[in-house]
Order: sequence, then structure tokens, then C-alpha cells
Amino acid sequence: KDHGKGRYAAYDLELDRRSVQHAELGAELRQALGTHGQLHLVYQPIVTLPEGQITGVEALIRWQHPQRGLIPPSEFIPVAERTGLIVPLGRWIMREAAAQAAAWADDPATASITMSVNVSARQLREPGFPEELAAVLHETGLEPSRFTVEVTETAVFDSDAALTALRGIHRLGARVALDDFGTGHSSLGLLRTCPVDILKVDKSFVDGVTGTAEQAAIAISLIQITSTLRLAAVAEGVETAEQAEVLHRLGYRLAQGFYFSRPASPGQIYPLLTRAAHAQ
Ligand code: C2E
Ligand code: CA
Ligand code: CA
Ligand code: CA
Repeated sequence: KDHGKGRYAAYDLELDRRSVQHAELGAELRQALGTHGQLHLVYQPIVTLPEGQITGVEALIRWQHPQRGLIPPSEFIPVAERTGLIVPLGRWIMREAAAQAAAWADDPATASITMSVNVSARQLREPGFPEELAAVLHETGLEPSRFTVEVTETAVFDSDAALTALRGIHRLGARVALDDFGTGHSSLGLLRTCPVDILKVDKSFVDGVTGTAEQAAIAISLIQITSTLRLAAVAEGVETAEQAEVLHRLGYRLAQGFYFSRPASPGQIYPLLTRAAHAQ
């Protein structure tokens, strides 16, 4: 009994320590948002199978903290969501990514590239999200069809506000991708009721394609469903040539992962993009 009590106390302490850390991180994130240079975006190519030609990129945020070093988004995005900072942060991300995409669109060598941006549940449900996206597209001059909003199925599941926002995004002519598909508490019915264009098949299922029939089953089912519903599918987290080859054989036409390219700065990405344009 006493043992159990001790464990709970330790657990509470751990919780307290973490909430203090989160509060600190929140305050520092607020500061970083107002400072130039701590936050930046990197871009990871989305490529065709089997050619490996870049059709677009996904923007991923990075926080270079002056003392703590590089903090991964998995640590500070949840804090940003809890504190509400995700709203101004998300606004900054959307603007920055759209401006980058518009710059690439103006350059004949990179003109055909699309931009995908992660939008969290809280940001999507914020009233006026589609209007904000419309303003960003207008100000940057980016063609709406070149812009994809990536949302998780959890963000749209059971939320009328999120569904309304997705319809608004579609009305602008921008695209919607369901991220990490298969990992949340979704139902396949969501694919029919929700305005969605692209399914991003989670890495956990991609990892299975070179395994047993059971391990590969979900990746196989998902490509069949997307093809029947006329959705595009992107295989996420491809790390080996063998995975790329099997995915192609299963019918996947788009992929993303370290095997093709790690997320990189616009300067590092540019030569890859122009090479893609020349190969076309
Ligand atoms: P996500 O949207 O599923 O992004 C894909 C993550 O997988 C990225 O991690 C990417 O670097 C990583 N990845 C890509 N290819 C591979 C691979 O072959 N192997 C492995 N092991 N990993 C791969 P990252 O950049 O750390 O982002 C983690 C998550 O944080 C993202 O998952 C997304 O949910 C969130 N996130 C990142 N940037 C943003 C943002 O700008 N806004 C919002 N709201 N969330 C973001
Ligand atoms: Ca994503
Ligand atoms: Ca994902
Ligand atoms: Ca993920």
C-alpha cells in the first residue's frame, strides 16, 4: 500500500515538474514568436514513384532555442496548442510557407511545386480560418491549388467547426490532406463525408510493407480505398529503396521520407527542385 502511495506521489511530482517546464516553454515560445530568427521552416520533398521527381514539399517547423538548442516540434507544438499560441504561430507558419511557395512559383525552374502545411486542430477550429488562408493566398499571390492544408483525422473527427473550415478551404480551391491516416480514432466513413483530396498513409503502415502479409495489409487496403474514392495517397516515412519499390508495386504513386530527402532549408532544396523541373 505504502509503496503504491509513494508511486503516486512521485507521479504527481513528475507532473508538477512537467507543467512548470511547459509553462516555461510556453513563455519562451511567446518570446520566440516576437523575435526574429529562432523559428524557421524546413521543407521535405514529396516525390513520384518510381521516378522520385519532386511534386511538392511539406513545411515543418523548427525552433532553434538560444540556450536549449534545437527543440523538436513534437515538444513545443503540444505546448503551443495548450496555451493557444498555436493560433499566432500557425498564422506565421502559413504566411511563411505560402511566401516561399509563391517565390518558387515565380521561378520557371521551380514553378510546378506545391506546398503542404500542417494545421493543428485548434487552429483549424478558430473562427475565420478559411478567410485567413484566403488573405494569405491573396497577399502572396500563390495559386490556391498549389496549397495543401494537412490535418489529422482526430482534428476533424466529431468536429463540425473543423468540417466547416475544410469546406471553406475547398471553396478557395486549396487542397486538404488527412495526415497520419489510420493512427487516430477515425472511421473510413470520414473519407466520404469529409472534403479531402489526399490521404497521408502513416509511417507505421509504410514500415509494414516489406514485412509479413499481416503487416502489409493496412497499406494495401488504404491504396485500394484511395483509388476507389479517387483520392491521392502519399506514403509517409519511406526510408529504404525496398520500401519504395514495394509501395510502387502496390500502386502508390507518391511518397515522402528520408530515403528521398530529409527536411531541408529552401537553399538546400532549391537545386533538388530545379533538377526535378529539368527532368520533366
Ligand atoms: P508529420 O506532419 O507527420 O510530419 C512528418 C514527420 O516525420 C516530420 O517530423 C519529418 O521530419 C518526419 N519524417 C519524414 N520522413 C521520415 C522518415 O523517413 N523517417 C522518420 N523516422 N521520420 C521521417 P518533425 O518535423 O519532427 O515533425 C513532427 C510532427 O510535428 C509533424 O508530424 C507534425 O505533426 C508536427 N509539426 C511539424 N511542423 C509543424 C507545423 O508547422 N505546424 C503544426 N501544427 N505541426 C507541425
Ligand atoms: Ca504532416
Ligand atoms: Ca504525417
Ligand atoms: Ca506524424
